Amino acid sequence: METVSDVKTRVYRFGNKTADGNSKMKNLLGGKGANLAEMSAIGIPVPPGFTITTEVCTEYNELGKNKVIKYLKEDVKKAIKNIEEIMGTRFGDPENPLLISVRSGARVSMPGMMDTVLNLGLNDEVVSGLVKKTNNERFAWDSYRRFIQMYGGVVLGMKPVTKEDIDPFEEIMEHLKDKRNIELDTQFTVQDLQDLVYDFKDAVKKQTGHDFPLDPWDQLWGAIMAVFDSWNGDRAIYYRKMNGYPADWGTAVNVQAMVYGNMGNNSGTGVCFTRDAGTGENVFNGEYLINAQGEDVVAGVRTPQQITKLGSERWAKLAQVKEAIRAADYPSLEELMPSIYSELYGYQEKLEKHYKDMQDMEFTIQEGKLWILQTRNGKRTGAAMVKIAIDLLKEGQIDEKEALMRIEPIKLDELLHPVFDPKGLNKDDIIAQGLPASPGAATGQIVFFADEADKYKYTILTRIETSPEDLEGMNIARGILTARGGMTSHAAVVARGMGKCCVSGAGALKIDYKNRVLRVDGKEFHEGDWISLNGTTGNIIEGKVPTMEPELSGEFAEIMELSDKYRTMKVRTNADTPKDATAARNFGAEGIGLTRTEHMFFEVDRIRAMREMILADTIKGRKVALKELLPMQRSDFEGIFEAMQGFPVTIRLLDPPLHEFVPHQLATQKELAEDLHISLAAVKNKVSELHEFNPMLGHRGCRLGITYPEITEMQTRAIIEAALNLKEKGIAVIPEIMVPLVGTVKEFVAQEQVIRSTAQKVFKERKDTVEYLVGTMIEIPRAALMADRIAEHADFFSFGTNDLTQMTYGYSRDDAGSFLEIYLKEGILTSDPFEVLDQEGVGQLVRMGTERGRNVKSDLKVGICGEHGGEPSSVEFCNRIGLNYVSCSPFRVPIARVAAAQAAIS
Ligand code: ADP
Ligand code: MG
Ligand code: MG
Repeated sequence: METVSDVKTRVYRFGNKTADGNSKMKNLLGGKGANLAEMSAIGIPVPPGFTITTEVCTEYNELGKNKVIKYLKEDVKKAIKNIEEIMGTRFGDPENPLLISVRSGARVSMPGMMDTVLNLGLNDEVVSGLVKKTNNERFAWDSYRRFIQMYGGVVLGMKPVTKEDIDPFEEIMEHLKDKRNIELDTQFTVQDLQDLVYDFKDAVKKQTGHDFPLDPWDQLWGAIMAVFDSWNGDRAIYYRKMNGYPADWGTAVNVQAMVYGNMGNNSGTGVCFTRDAGTGENVFNGEYLINAQGEDVVAGVRTPQQITKLGSERWAKLAQVKEAIRAADYPSLEELMPSIYSELYGYQEKLEKHYKDMQDMEFTIQEGKLWILQTRNGKRTGAAMVKIAIDLLKEGQIDEKEALMRIEPIKLDELLHPVFDPKGLNKDDIIAQGLPASPGAATGQIVFFADEADKYKYTILTRIETSPEDLEGMNIARGILTARGGMTSHAAVVARGMGKCCVSGAGALKIDYKNRVLRVDGKEFHEGDWISLNGTTGNIIEGKVPTMEPELSGEFAEIMELSDKYRTMKVRTNADTPKDATAARNFGAEGIGLTRTEHMFFEVDRIRAMREMILADTIKGRKVALKELLPMQRSDFEGIFEAMQGFPVTIRLLDPPLHEFVPHQLATQKELAEDLHISLAAVKNKVSELHEFNPMLGHRGCRLGITYPEITEMQTRAIIEAALNLKEKGIAVIPEIMVPLVGTVKEFVAQEQVIRSTAQKVFKERKDTVEYLVGTMIEIPRAALMADRIAEHADFFSFGTNDLTQMTYGYSRDDAGSFLEIYLKEGILTSDPFEVLDQEGVGQLVRMGTERGRNVKSDLKVGICGEHGGEPSSVEFCNRIGLNYVSCSPFRVPIARVAAAQAAIS
């Protein structure tokens, strides 16, 4: 059965200052295609071409190659004809050939994750035609060898055999370079290039068993299908997973007339950014290579030259560390081709104004004529993201809401990581200097291969250059170091996108994969040796360098202020100690949503009293032990209240099963027995008595407080006394006492009675009172169902979404690792429900619990205190269903503030 209609448009053309599509059509045309169309329409010189839609990719996955070719054939033919007319050349014509590129492009940019083929349409006849037409033999043969190389890799699957090997085509080239005693591929003669073409074809035949396809139309369909296939390649899948992009988006295919950067010394290719993607500074910057084609710059084949002039103010800012850039990187494009440079400068201004965001552009110069091949909103570090948003706001390009929407909340995390302490750096330990490709500080042990990035806890992935296959390893490593490649190399772009520290193009490094050695300046570093990278200066440092807390920029504070202006939901923190509470206050937390009291019992001096309490056989014995614990708890609470300066503090009563507090090793059991003057057998008995098959569903939460009300009494007393003590000091606190793991109304009522009567007692003793609330954590599905009944008694609800997720799914959080990974891979789950709140299922309980509770008590205070409180999509959900606050760990507070503001805006 046919599932597709034949009337839909599958092919969108662009070129000659017109286009069928525009930049709003990213979902259909992919980001690259939509922007090519837009650029064409606003008069930027882009080579003509067409885009096959992302929907066709989906059709391809469902219906297969033949069907899709049938659907596309006529449209593609017409679109090729359109290019031919504009260019005055013909596809496959040996006299006057049109060559094309076939480029991938999903709706979001995934740099290097999918495939592209250049110079398609060449074969043995066409190459001679190209020679005659251009009178440039070298160019024609260089294009041919490049084509076979790319087509071989992308479409025919030519790959290095093992990871220590290099690409088979590279290997052939290296051989020839050695034989001819040359270093650069620009030094190949025509004869060399012809030999390469011959050897490349031979290698293809040997490895694949087939001849290299010579018919241009076969080549074209092969390339189109390969681009579709690359959507489901390992790299692309991993990248999608890392960024949470769904598999059904698909990629578009862009087919475009070639323009040639490899026609000689008045040709070239480059990449540029309208602002600094590392720091966000408003400086135009980029890199280029003369006599080269697109891939050469990003792949780091040669370290490229800067486009801006040395000594210019822009440059001084950009380079930050001038020594980082070797003199060989000159001349700049600005000096070498001033008129091209100023034309390019004009386009970058125009494009940034047009898109109102920092642009990352590709360009090619063909014999003195400038072409723009791509523009997109550039990937950037967290620091650059914040600075650019604020700068664009101040320049009047965007408004406050838009500036906030430009922030990817999760990326704020990067700004909070430690940086190197300059006082801890010994100048002699600097072993080399590279380019400051992605700011930050990283210390780790050297590994040379991406698939070994997890060999040690902290690693520095050290490569000659990185390739898109290395993505996973780059993500795992602490930092990335490359010997080749510039500020726009693959490694640099990807690292900035990940917010990972990267130093690139450190030409002094000699990396020997076979022996797993890094040699530099007479020194040797082996796999496992410690090094440090400073991605802000480009320093490569021997050993470990001490770190310090980062200083947060003025722009960061401005973004935070803006968030507070727009958000309506409060952001609290989860904190168990005065130190965490203070840190969270500094990040702008407006109270504590969860203090876990049990953490306080694990400290050495307290665990003994705790154990004594557990081992006591009588109430009296327990009370004696609890009396010891009381002053400790009280002073903890005083510290936390003090740090919170009058903001609300929610304290949860003892939650974990008692089993977690008793010793499990014989030696410690013996010690305890001696200490408490009881028999070892008594200790052992108690330990096995406390053993449970399902402790998470066992004797814990309010079940403890109900069996041992004296624990609830002690904790309540500690809380109320602490609040009274602070009141005396002039600090007002309204403690919120939270009963955990309630499933029935009676459980809550029983605990509430203990709490209120204890508080009354303390008030009487002290002849003073404080205001306090008694509420509950909603973390058992039954509690969400009974929320209206519970709300008749409870002053507040706090959704404990960790347990609620655990119990709703029936997954044990501690054991889910064994199958979750497979579930995610198979697409049974789209995200880890312990990280991202399951809005569909668990979210229903949160929504329902809130509604039912508020039906009874319209002003019921409701918050959430699971890990989800700092996860942006979950924060958005909480805002949507009207929660009063989210609570998250201190370092997540800034993220939650921005996420809450974004939720309020949209
Ligand atoms: P990616 O998404 O990995 O950047 P692209 O499709 O942008 O892949 O292409 C890779 C390189 O080839 C880029 O540098 C691009 O500018 C260049 N390129 C693509 N198409 C053409 C073309 N028609 N003419 C000249 N260069 C091209
Ligand atoms: Mg590109
Ligand atoms: Mg819980």
